[in-house]
Amino acid sequence: MPDIESLLKETRVFKPAPEFARSAYWNRKRVEEMRRLGERNPERFWARMAKEHVSWFTPWHTILKWKPPFAKWFVGGKTNVSYNCLDRHLTGEHAWRRNKAAIVWEGEPGDSRVLTYADLHREVSKFANVLKKLGIRKGDRVAIYMPMVPELAIAMLACTRIGAPHSIVFAGFSAESLRDRINDAGARAVITADGGFRRGGVIKLKQAVDEAVENAPSVEHVVVVRRTENPVDMRPGRDHWWHTLMAEASSQCPPARLDAEHPLFILYTSGTTGKPKGILHTTGGYLTHVTATAKAIFDLREDDTYWCTADIGWVTGHSYIVYGILANGVTTLMYEGAPNHPGLDRFWEIIEKYRVTVFYTAPTAIRTFIRWGEEHPKKHDLSSLRLLGTVGEPINPEAWMWYHRVIGGKRCPIVDTWWQTETGGILITPLPGGVPTKPGSATKAFPGIDAEVYDEDGKPVKPPNGGFLVLRKPWPGMLRGIWGDPKRFREQYWSKYKNTYFTGDGAHRDRDGYFWVMGRVDDVMNVSGHRIGTMEVESALVSHAQVAEAAVVGRPDEITGTAIVAFVTPKGDAEVDDSLRDALRKHVTREIGAIARPAEIRFTDALPKTRSGKIMRRLLRDIASGKESVGDTTTLEDYSVIARLRESEES
Ligand code: ATP
Ligand code: MG
Repeated sequence: MPDIESLLKETRVFKPAPEFARSAYWNRKRVEEMRRLGERNPERFWARMAKEHVSWFTPWHTILKWKPPFAKWFVGGKTNVSYNCLDRHLTGEHAWRRNKAAIVWEGEPGDSRVLTYADLHREVSKFANVLKKLGIRKGDRVAIYMPMVPELAIAMLACTRIGAPHSIVFAGFSAESLRDRINDAGARAVITADGGFRRGGVIKLKQAVDEAVENAPSVEHVVVVRRTENPVDMRPGRDHWWHTLMAEASSQCPPARLDAEHPLFILYTSGTTGKPKGILHTTGGYLTHVTATAKAIFDLREDDTYWCTADIGWVTGHSYIVYGILANGVTTLMYEGAPNHPGLDRFWEIIEKYRVTVFYTAPTAIRTFIRWGEEHPKKHDLSSLRLLGTVGEPINPEAWMWYHRVIGGKRCPIVDTWWQTETGGILITPLPGGVPTKPGSATKAFPGIDAEVYDEDGKPVKPPNGGFLVLRKPWPGMLRGIWGDPKRFREQYWSKYKNTYFTGDGAHRDRDGYFWVMGRVDDVMNVSGHRIGTMEVESALVSHAQVAEAAVVGRPDEITGTAIVAFVTPKGDAEVDDSLRDALRKHVTREIGAIARPAEIRFTDALPKTRSGKIMRRLLRDIASGKESVGDTTTLEDYSVIARLRESEES
């Protein structure tokens, strides 16, 4: 019996369009050449990436020191992330980028700002001097709790300039979550704002910081950006206005020459599965990984306007709004607010307004757009788009097709990128000029990455069976540990297989060697001895014309061991009744087989999601089996859905 059975049959294939392939930075020839090098000698491949994409003050003497599970990359090398994102675009070959837009920013109320590379360099240098003046030294941790405003990117880059690791906490988290993260990292300063705009209202960030810092003894300073002008309390001595400190700061601040392994940031994972972990990333390897992957996967060009809709509070924003994009000298767009303010077409309006060329978003957002209806994107000219991407969850093939057709106008390649907070950058992904795509598959590992699907005993499984997604060799962007908890680091990632990183995800490979991520291993359901992943059953449900979104979980059952319970969000115009339930059961049986037929179907207008938009199936499991305790819910986006879901029982 395989560890996870694969039921989904998806046969559509999309070849790269010839025009796209011809002009791609990584065309088919280059992809093949890089794959060969990556397979033969991954260290040499990454060293080549590090030379090509990163500027070093001092070259490394050793590419990799690997004492499992601890890796050191580019040992002896010295560099600086803010130097790579800014200074190098102001002199030499690329000096003309001085007046190119680095950040194009759109506020939720409709205000906007553009910072050129020269502007950003000046602001970052000044804020680095502000931090120094507040006594922040190399190695000190700085917590950042900010809305999506340019000052957030400025603060991050300023930290990297002086070697102070930042710990960004998503601004949607409560005071309590913020306090726990500040204390875990022992942050000396907190950078925040008076507030941020969200769905027309103001989120009161400073108030949350005041509450958090009450019980965070390590914090000496709080710096506050004025954004919304709502009143805030400023405690003398501790609290400072950003603009007051900046007015006096010098714009001369040479970047610190940092060791390749100097800590760059700590980031707490989004908490889909349990207690957040402080994931530690370092300088040279991470920068190499995100810069090279951004360039190759998004096929970045000099005249691109790139937009990733993630919040910078998540790893996607770190790696692919700020560091990987700016290091390539490309224009990155930042949007402050919600996708449905003031209208359901806000994203499409922004794409039209700025002529966005590359668009990177999450399946959860795409499913929401599907529910809202295609009339909203149809109102706008999206013809500037040339490449689309997704990240965060498996994308259901039907959602992929919608994205391809409605947003991409059938002409844009889609890169479905698999990675994690822990991996720092993208690991499994199409390369748009050289890899045919299949809806629902992240295709193949990036060159230099050794991904495989193992069975319980650590042997590669044979297609089409599923198993455990693992990484067999270290890679430059990999986490260097869990902050302050080496024991948990070993247990979580390195204990299932020897010297092999366990991702926690289930996957299978097809006969072309393509990877299909099937969801989290913890969510696998054991029905009459068949182990079934969540993604395939959900994809079967979502492929029904009346369904926008679905989540399935197992509930204990006397006969089958586990019965499948499906939580289904119908499309806006769907008739919700028992005949739809029947139709869905038949549909799942037809699509993937009777074994996956849900025993119970509950209709709901919303699913419980993390603040980064991912479905929290562990809560649904408790609800499905009628259990009271729902574990850690601090990362839940909307608490009220839990109560509503409890009432959704099939009669
Ligand atoms: P936590 O680890 O705290 O429970 P999390 O796993 O949701 O939270 P992230 O690091 O943001 O935190 O997410 C990584 C996970 O997201 C992956 O392990 C995988 O389950 C899922 N994922 C990301 N991208 C993809 C993708 N392209 N296809 C399928 N799954 C994906
Ligand atoms: Mg995870």
